[in-house]
Amino acid sequence: MIKTDQADRLGSVCSLRGTQQQQRNNADSGPGERPDLPSLPRVGNGYDVHAFAVGLPFILGGIKLDHTKGCIAHSDGDCLIHALCDAMLGALALGDIGFHFPDTSEEFRGIDSKILLERTYAMVRKARYRLGNADCTVCLQAPRIAKYIPRMKEVLAGILDVAPECISIKATTTEHLGFVGREEGIAVYATVLLWPEV
Ligand SMILES: [Zn+2]
Repeated sequence: MIKTDQADRLGSVCSLRGTQQQQRNNADSGPGERPDLPSLPRVGNGYDVHAFAVGLPFILGGIKLDHTKGCIAHSDGDCLIHALCDAMLGALALGDIGFHFPDTSEEFRGIDSKILLERTYAMVRKARYRLGNADCTVCLQAPRIAKYIPRMKEVLAGILDVAPECISIKATTTEHLGFVGREEGIAVYATVLLWPEV
């Protein structure tokens, strides 16, 4: 029994190695089709940064926040959703958000990033994976976002078809250091675990 279990594990590892070239081919050729992926959990991380400008709407985690500044972006500039999308794409080695939703395309000008998240998660589901959990860290000097976090979690969980408890959103200042500390912009880190469909 132990040998069988070990063989199963080894087989999974070998099939993972054997699919690496195919994974690269798929990442190059486009989104979605990942029938080669073995039935193992996959982890991914994402990172996004946007500069602020006075007078723009500040959209984060799928909702509008009260602030005097907002993100300069081709889309609506939702830095949290962008990091989350990159983490999920990274988990499946499917490239990045810029590959799938280029900022040179008129299709994505001013687009609601919730649509990008829906499309990204459709790729995840097409690959027969679903979100296990996500952990996000928002680096922002101002405004304080604690009061917005429950609503952000509800919105994101609704799109990703999970309970809000599966999504963690943490916020930190950078103690007035760097571009975040000078309130010139925002950075978000996201980590996700994707679970294979069984
Ligand atoms: Zn972005």
